[in-house]
Amino acid sequence: MNGAEQEPARAELSAIGQALAILGDRWVLLILQRAFLLRIRTFAAWRDALGISESVLASRLKELVGHGIFQLAAYRNGRTRYEYRLTGRGLRLWALLVAIHTWERVWANRRQLQPLRHDLCGEDANPYLGCGSCLASMSARDTRTEFGPRAVFSRSGPSRRHRRTVHPVAESDLIGYCPDSMEILGDRWSTSILSAAFLGTHRFVDFQSELGIAPSVLTDRLRRFVELGVFDPRPDGSYGLTDKGLAFFEVFAFLVDWAQGELPGPEGSALSITHRPCGAAFDPVLLCTACVRPLRRHEVRFILSGEGTAETAR
Ligand SMILES: [Zn+2]
Ligand SMILES: [Zn+2]
Repeated sequence: MNGAEQEPARAELSAIGQALAILGDRWVLLILQRAFLLRIRTFAAWRDALGISESVLASRLKELVGHGIFQLAAYRNGRTRYEYRLTGRGLRLWALLVAIHTWERVWANRRQLQPLRHDLCGEDANPYLGCGSCLASMSARDTRTEFGPRAVFSRSGPSRRHRRTVHPVAESDLIGYCPDSMEILGDRWSTSILSAAFLGTHRFVDFQSELGIAPSVLTDRLRRFVELGVFDPRPDGSYGLTDKGLAFFEVFAFLVDWAQGELPGPEGSALSITHRPCGAAFDPVLLCTACVRPLRRHEVRFILSGEGTAETAR
């Protein structure tokens, strides 16, 4: 693990910081995406589907097992073989993966990504973020966030992994590489900057002091966010979220929800988020545009062209 010695002990990171340390990697996101969409369970199947080197795949799977996202299970097929099954913790990443997929379809002009069919109404779900309490839609603007006294996203160095290790797969790949999401989530600094923006930070100096980020790294990430159309530079030198950037709150919501539900952070490091219109504590759900009911993992399936339907992971 590169740079491990400069990183704070994992226990010092907030739950969100820990989640980013686990998930903030393009290969990890691609492995999970294939597990959910294609129900891939074996080393050979990921290797063939992703064109990933065996050593990189082995290290990522080992980490994911170590974090309790997959468990290694033996089964008999002539001789004993092993497969990686999503644990309960792993399965609870489903909404995050669907949110990434949805955001890419809508905001990254990736309409060729397959739609999600809702079994309960038979329509394309076109999921949107809602509040689990009042079932109204929810955006960054109608939530209120209170920081714990020690809320820290990441004060550690840049991502432990080399960037740009993933070669984009063909444009025609219907499962999708999700380049824009990976640009954001695949780099811990990028997610930290965007998270800070959701929580009201707009100025260079404030990003710098709140995140403890080197100016050169910050300059680079801000420039990329402007190129991606996520940030809008303002005349006064600050950065505002564009509609595309604001919409990424849907992904951020499920990241926060999973992190804080699954990974214990140090006391006082949690974010407390409230849905302002109803006053309920943060409980993000995905709602179906057609029937306005919450989407559940067992009740949706991706429509893969030419292959009928693919159920998402059980
Ligand atoms: Zn609500
Ligand atoms: Zn529906």
